[in-house]
Amino acid sequence: MAKEENNTQKKVKRGLKHKLRVMTIVPIILMGIVVTILSYSVFSRVIQKEVRRNLSNVAEFVEAYYDSVYPGDYRAEKISETEYKLYKGEADISDTEDVLASFKGDTGVDISVFFLDIRMLTTIGGTSGADAHYTISNKMVSDAVINGKSEQFYNNIVIDGTKFFIIYKPLMNSDGTCIGMISVGKPTDQVENESSGSLFWIPIVTLIMTLIAAWISFYPARSLVDAINKEKKFLNEISKGNLNAEIDKEITDRQDELGDMGRFSRGVQKFLREMIERDTLTRLYTRRVGASKIAYTQSQFNQAGVKYCVCMGDIDFFKKFNDTYGHDCGDLVLRDIASIFNEYMLGKGFAVRWGGEEFLIIFEDADLEKAHGLLMVLRQIVLDHVIEYESNKLGVTMTFGLTQGDMRDIDDIVKEADELLYIGKQNGRNRIVTPDETNALTPESDDPDYEKELSEIREKE
Ligand code: GH3
Ligand code: MG
Ligand code: MG
Repeated sequence: MAKEENNTQKKVKRGLKHKLRVMTIVPIILMGIVVTILSYSVFSRVIQKEVRRNLSNVAEFVEAYYDSVYPGDYRAEKISETEYKLYKGEADISDTEDVLASFKGDTGVDISVFFLDIRMLTTIGGTSGADAHYTISNKMVSDAVINGKSEQFYNNIVIDGTKFFIIYKPLMNSDGTCIGMISVGKPTDQVENESSGSLFWIPIVTLIMTLIAAWISFYPARSLVDAINKEKKFLNEISKGNLNAEIDKEITDRQDELGDMGRFSRGVQKFLREMIERDTLTRLYTRRVGASKIAYTQSQFNQAGVKYCVCMGDIDFFKKFNDTYGHDCGDLVLRDIASIFNEYMLGKGFAVRWGGEEFLIIFEDADLEKAHGLLMVLRQIVLDHVIEYESNKLGVTMTFGLTQGDMRDIDDIVKEADELLYIGKQNGRNRIVTPDETNALTPESDDPDYEKELSEIREKE
């Protein structure tokens, strides 16, 4: 039992729907992941660039401030083991830290002024209690900025346990020497917090877009699979021998290859049904199908009172066609008569090849009088028909036994029609016999001219 369930699960997994789902959704999800990663990295690069620009502006502003308020070169004096004084021109600028603090208040960034690689003035650590004064800058930084005399930006400088985005701007004296640096930095945490709003939306928006794209691409794929499954169900019914199965109209109405397949399958079903239901020589219904069709006609009579008549017809002296002109000629006669029946009975009922040259005819929605009238016309058409066989023009007559259908056993009704036919044969052939007429029949076989007449009909040349 568990094994069976397992097998079904495996089958579902291997199904077309599953494959199409994988084929459409997986690449889109992968694309979504790539887009998320790319947008993340592009976006954080843009943020870093923006941060760098802001920091650089502040550094430039601070440098300009000192240059304008305190003209002259920078120099430092060591006043004790742990203390320095910083001068600009003649002015002692060691106590200008509150100016830097007010810049920090306006811009939210930390500012330090270095003499060579020693941090002389700074806004870092003031509130945390840690003191960043007189700390020595990273060697990599001082090499690049002081020796290299170029502005540098770093995104990973750790000061007093906090990671910073920092820009270092070289400070130049009038003789062109680099005397120190101004650093302007912002904790990376703070930058990330400020931009996290925008970064947060990237995966959300990408996820929503991915789902929409997956749904858009999977929806038509799913409708294709549904159509294929309906087609499969129909073919499965045919393979089980159900030739009355109906294919979903949705499929045959499609204007694509699946629609073609649906229409072809329906064509195959019709062809198979014809092969099984129709006699190969005459294309009339076979006796087996005839019986079930009469049963249906009878059920209509039973349920809705739709009257019907049953007629047995037999070609007169048919054996003579075989004997005189050969079996092929007999076949041709059967085919010709059958096609007359097929055409004439359209909309009136149907004809069945009951045996060799015997035909059962069912008149639907007809009482005996109506059926008799129709049968007289049919008999006349047969009589007037000329069969051409190898330059011979041949005529055919038929004898019919006709009776009203009712709720009796079908075999009994057919038997009655057969008996009436037999009476017709006994009474000279080429006639219609109904239950009312049996008594009124004049035995034409007594007429010595009848046989002669019949052979004249046959030889219409
Ligand atoms: P009746 O007027 O009394 O009906 O005479 P009949 O000659 O028509 O009837 P009978 O039963 O003597 O002969 C019927 C013949 O029909 C015998 C058989 O060989 C022939 N027959 C039956 N089926 C076929 C067929 O499919 N093709 C041909 N060519 N002949 C067939
Ligand atoms: Mg016959
Ligand atoms: Mg016969």
